[in-house]
Amino acid sequence: MYKLEMHLHTIHNSHCGQAEPADIAHDYAKAGYNGIVVTNHFNRTDLFGYVAQQFGSRLNVMTDYMHDYYELKDECAKYGIDVFFGLEAAPDFCTYYKYSPPYGEILVYGITPEELLRDGYDILNFSDREFYEWAEKNGCVLVVAHPFRSICTPLDYRYVHGIEIANLHAYQNSHNEKAEELCASLGLISTGGSDYHFEGGEGGGILLKRAPENEKDLAAILKSGEYEVIKKR
Ligand SMILES: [Zn+2]
Ligand SMILES: [Zn+2]
Repeated sequence: MYKLEMHLHTIHNSHCGQAEPADIAHDYAKAGYNGIVVTNHFNRTDLFGYVAQQFGSRLNVMTDYMHDYYELKDECAKYGIDVFFGLEAAPDFCTYYKYSPPYGEILVYGITPEELLRDGYDILNFSDREFYEWAEKNGCVLVVAHPFRSICTPLDYRYVHGIEIANLHAYQNSHNEKAEELCASLGLISTGGSDYHFEGGEGGGILLKRAPENEKDLAAILKSGEYEVIKKR
């Protein structure tokens, strides 16, 4: 079995992330993971606030956003752990940083760093439907993160592929049983992840029959349903 983390934040690219890539690599090796998808928060407020601040640049914010992905890739290579690129995106239509709903975050699987450089600014501006059409065109999968956290409101589920049914964040009540019910009733793809933010936060993810070759292959595996979601730490 190939154990893959599907939801993880790092210190320099998520305002709430507390762990350095080197420590994450060490801990995930100890916990028996074979791969990690990095999913730092991707929204206008965090990008031009926290991320820009970390690196002192407002010209190259998409590159800055990927800083820890590359660092984690280097660190994890020492342990033979694969690192895949991903986002926890909140385009303007669903960002928490506005006055009215919808509020939500969408995990993006299958996106490559090159696609983010090309389309990152467009993604921030997308409507839900435009985001979905973009994902379809580019072989990506959109998964609603922790839809029943208190801060989240319902999104239009016609424009996503899946729902995170097992968010194992240590201190957040994500009401996973409700998410699982919703996912089943809609017949969508189900995923799980640790929502890792600090050391000791690992434990969730999915179990695959084989290693994904790259981000696009991971998205294809998610669509095939050939994996198992880890539901408890
Ligand atoms: Zn966070
Ligand atoms: Zn998260």
